[in-house]
Amino acid sequence: MAKPSKSGRVVAKSAAAPRIPGNATLEELREMARTCRACNLWERATQTVFGEGGTGARVMFVGEQPGDREDVAGRPFVGPAGLLLNRALEQAGIAREEVYFTNVVKHFKWEPRGKRRIHKKPNQLQIAACRPWLEAELAVVRPEVVVCLGATAAQALLGKKFRVTQQRGRMIPSKLAPFVTATVHPSSILRAPDDESRHREMELFAADLKRVAAVLRRKKAA
Ligand code: SF4
Repeated sequence: MAKPSKSGRVVAKSAAAPRIPGNATLEELREMARTCRACNLWERATQTVFGEGGTGARVMFVGEQPGDREDVAGRPFVGPAGLLLNRALEQAGIAREEVYFTNVVKHFKWEPRGKRRIHKKPNQLQIAACRPWLEAELAVVRPEVVVCLGATAAQALLGKKFRVTQQRGRMIPSKLAPFVTATVHPSSILRAPDDESRHREMELFAADLKRVAAVLRRKKAA
């Protein structure tokens, strides 16, 4: 659990790190993450939602956190946003077996609104506490391309100043992987106010993923 520092602030930055051996497989990581208590998000979530995909995956998609459906299913990107992501992947020509899906935070953060559980953005402390799990996934999967989905993931991995609206689709120099980029989170497309803007947003999203597909093709041909 997080401990108070000398200044009284709660520090959980590396609370999960000591529990992660360097040579763990994805299955071992998933198993260890089931009982993670490095921040308080486990308390209200159903279960840990660890990343999923092939160990030979070439591209890693990193979202913010599991949603309501993912929390219940225990799998990432299986709700409406995941279905939309699948459609965009198809349009871009990226095969599912080439993809690994995960989130910067592995437990669902929510607040009640009537009978519904409404998504709540994780804070910096929770994102920092969960970072060792993402680092461990990156170390095992070693993707050629990392795609951050949405501002929370992009700013967690590319810095606070990163603006998805202005920098989406560009390849950003990073130590995370040979190619790193960011685009919107598919849930933002679902929230578009009307069909026309939803259609336009979907086209822009697919165009960003087509740039990723082009990188994968170039690397394969090299
Ligand atoms: S959100 Fe991450 S750090 Fe926090 S308890 Fe869950 S797995 Fe652990």
